[in-house]
Amino acid sequence: MDNMKLADLLLPSIDKTPDYYTNLYPERNLKEGAMVTRYAPSPTGFQHLGGVFAALISERTAHQSGGIFYFRIEDTDKKREVAGAIEESTTTLRDFGIFFDEGVVDSKSEKGAYGPYKQSDRMEIYHAYVKDLIKKGLAYPCFCTEEELDETRKIQQELKINTGYHGKWAIHRNATFDEINENLSKGKPFVIRLKSPGDPNKRVICNDLIKGDISMPENDQDIVLLKTNGLPTYHLAHAVDDHLMRTTHVIRGEEWFSSLPIHLQLFEMLGFAVPKYAHIPTIMKMDGTSRRKLSKRKDPEIRVDYYKSEGYPLVSVTEYLSNLINSNFQEWRIEHADEPCANFTIILENMSKSGALFDILKLNDMSKDVIATMSASTVYDLYLAWAKENDTEVACLLTKNEDYAKKIFNIERENEKPRKDFVKWLDVKEHIEYFFDDFYKNSISAGTNFPDHILSEEVKIILDGYIAIYNHSDDADTWFSRVKELSEKLGYAKNGRVYKKNPDIYKGVVSDVAAVIRVALTNRTQTQDLYEVMQVMGEKRVIERLSQDFV
Ligand code: GLU
Repeated sequence: MDNMKLADLLLPSIDKTPDYYTNLYPERNLKEGAMVTRYAPSPTGFQHLGGVFAALISERTAHQSGGIFYFRIEDTDKKREVAGAIEESTTTLRDFGIFFDEGVVDSKSEKGAYGPYKQSDRMEIYHAYVKDLIKKGLAYPCFCTEEELDETRKIQQELKINTGYHGKWAIHRNATFDEINENLSKGKPFVIRLKSPGDPNKRVICNDLIKGDISMPENDQDIVLLKTNGLPTYHLAHAVDDHLMRTTHVIRGEEWFSSLPIHLQLFEMLGFAVPKYAHIPTIMKMDGTSRRKLSKRKDPEIRVDYYKSEGYPLVSVTEYLSNLINSNFQEWRIEHADEPCANFTIILENMSKSGALFDILKLNDMSKDVIATMSASTVYDLYLAWAKENDTEVACLLTKNEDYAKKIFNIERENEKPRKDFVKWLDVKEHIEYFFDDFYKNSISAGTNFPDHILSEEVKIILDGYIAIYNHSDDADTWFSRVKELSEKLGYAKNGRVYKKNPDIYKGVVSDVAAVIRVALTNRTQTQDLYEVMQVMGEKRVIERLSQDFV
């Protein structure tokens, strides 16, 4: 058969050759060992944690090797495309501090010399490669309908042989030019398939940096390269793109690992050098005593949105993910307490083969540490940014009372062992709202939280006594000795030991007195350090709160 004639018949408008593109996108001029990696999502749904995980690994490994990380959009499945998904991916990368050197910036623009980076803008390129394969007799049109393919599959299942389009079942593989021409003139829809030279009885070694070397049967399926609408399949598009964009390492989810025999064959038939592969094991979680994949239905934490709406600082999430990538991250963190986690060197070969275990409690612990090391002013800025989108009432309060809020955030902060009470911004309000008078008043009118064993007359005695000795300019030690002195005067033991010796002669312990003062000021039984709380509230507010009538 005249393959040249067939190629022109099938793709008449394509006049460029693979050589043209190879020259247009030359080898990159990078130093030895520099990696070129990519993040290549399909805009088909919400942003999930696995995507951020893959992007983070790809970005870090490229940049730490002095290489290039690029962002490609794989939008050839137009049926599944979701509006706004491209913007969501770029925003996610930006928010997580994952910077790409080249790629799609938004739905209208991109940067970099190896583009276009959106697959739907690369149709001519894919067609040029397919045309070349047809010319070489390595690809052909197939006119089978879905029904015919289903029928074949059923017969194969009954015969208990491998299903699919291969060997004698590939009925259009050896069609003559006239047969093809006739089908075309009837207007029959067709796909273009690869003429696979594979033998399933032979094996191919798939090298993977994470999984190691694994042998699998060769591919013998005549896979589809171009669909009936002319759009390429993932197999073809990614091979052409990874080649022309000069990708050195394909880092992607392990769901693609089983397709590796197809991809190795395709790269070879297209004459491309095979990149290195790293298939990332899926993130798992414990459910009772068994491990399972994170599920879209059951686990809100699979969605990137979740971290944003709960108000995890995104650095906490990248910090946690770094720890999931390589388990020696924590040792590194101890040695490099003040460095950004991007300085941690990722080793693909050291990733767990069985899949990292996601543990939200561990993330929470790490996030507490991350927030504890921030300055009060950073906490203020980040919390305000979150509140503007998620709690406008709080955002308004913070804006009106900037200095006061920063002082609140500074309580027990800039010291050796900073207080770790915030996991995420959603938690902050309950820890600080009592500092603000409207919240405080509402809380008091809903009911006070004085200890049950202290009657209201006694509360009044304690508070009156306390107002009399209160001196806002006392330092912490003087303040506490005064409280102790007052307590003893009112009949409370100065500590638990003294109380236990003679419980009958005391009304209680100094901590009961402190509890009354704390509740009167905050209506909380637990707060940050009481002395610091009062210093931040200011003398006027303290006296006002203490001298009201609690009924
Ligand atoms: N578009 C593919 C996906 O979202 C990308 C796989 C790859 O990185 O090659 O699964």
